Amino acid sequence: MNIWDQAHECMVREELEQLQLERLQATLNRVHKNVTFYRNKFNELGFIPEDIRSRADLTKLPFTSKEDLRVNYPYGMFAVPLREVVRIHSSSGTTSKPIVVGYTKNDIRIWSNLVARFMMAAGVTHDDLVQIAFSYGLFTGAFGLHYGAEAIGASVIPMGTGNTEKQIMIMQDYKTTVLVSTPSYALALALRMEQMGIDPKSLSLRIGLFGGEPWSEKMRQDIETKLGLSATDNYGVSEVIGPGVAGECQCKNGMHIYEDAFIPEIIDPKSGNVLPRGSVGELVLTTLTKEAFPMIRYRTRDITSLDYSQCECGRTLVRMKKITGRTDDMLIIRGVNVFPSQIEEAIYSAAKSSAPYQIVVERKGAMDSLDVIIEVTGEIFSLELQKQRSFLETVKKRIISVTGIDVSVKLVEAKSLPREGGKIVRVVDKRQM
Ligand SMILES: [Zn+2]
Repeated sequence: MNIWDQAHECMVREELEQLQLERLQATLNRVHKNVTFYRNKFNELGFIPEDIRSRADLTKLPFTSKEDLRVNYPYGMFAVPLREVVRIHSSSGTTSKPIVVGYTKNDIRIWSNLVARFMMAAGVTHDDLVQIAFSYGLFTGAFGLHYGAEAIGASVIPMGTGNTEKQIMIMQDYKTTVLVSTPSYALALALRMEQMGIDPKSLSLRIGLFGGEPWSEKMRQDIETKLGLSATDNYGVSEVIGPGVAGECQCKNGMHIYEDAFIPEIIDPKSGNVLPRGSVGELVLTTLTKEAFPMIRYRTRDITSLDYSQCECGRTLVRMKKITGRTDDMLIIRGVNVFPSQIEEAIYSAAKSSAPYQIVVERKGAMDSLDVIIEVTGEIFSLELQKQRSFLETVKKRIISVTGIDVSVKLVEAKSLPREGGKIVRVVDKRQM
């Protein structure tokens, strides 16, 4: 069995929880002492770190939001002086200042080891050649996987993003065995190979580590079939550490969260209440080992659920399901939580490719209605009327089976959906609420 850190990945739960509690107390002391933001918050509540006697006491503490990080830009959330920081990364900020995240030497060491866990869990060994097609820069993705692969002793090809033909040439010539990229880029690579007349199976690829964006099971099957590799998912949050929060094992049945380094909670995004085990809600993370940039109850905005049942791989760590959406784009229709990603998946699996679409929600009388409008791509457009109808019927059935909500689906001409800054407005909610 390929387990990087047997001692922590297969811990008896009681011991794990004891370790979490000790590390939580140390982290709370650290932020209370060194981060004005947290000291003020704790003082407002009359809370001192010694008040934490069990993991459940964590719920007494307030959440940390991305907005809090923005307000404390750039270094306000650092818990160590800058001279102890050896690396600075940042997360995206399209409309405002980015978030600045710091790492001490020890943070980088732990980060590398956390990433090595899911790489090894996917089957990577020191014999592999790992081609990293993430962007090297302020973002965390490329560096995290880079360090993880080096920790395992694999050979790293720090390719960076883009330049698809060169990526393919390097795969052929260097005999790349592991591809690291976003899942959508993996499909783009497959398509380009097809156009270039290259059979992906003639390459040496055997493992794909994909992350950085949500993706469906259907997409996994497509990537695995087209590229002839085993594809696993991993999860990271740049404000929390980057990649290395959680990763799949070869059971491909949820991502093991590295609970010796993070405490996960699932909350109701509206009320902030912690939800019972197994519920779907927003993932909240508290870091347990980080020195430079500890986070207490950080709201990730990602929607998932946790599975505490024993995994066949032998790891005892809880598994999180694939991210099904973001709290910022969750729709509540007739009391049901609906995520654009569910609709996207339905279209994807019926069309066998992605198609631009828009979701329109309206209130007709007392009832909310859900309309999905799909732009006709060449592929679907070339179908006969009869086949177009059956395509619409398939999409409709799939959406109903996933969401349980009746839906009307229609096709429109290519490029006719309204766009803002080149991007389709994905959700139009016309309800007055
Ligand atoms: Zn497992």
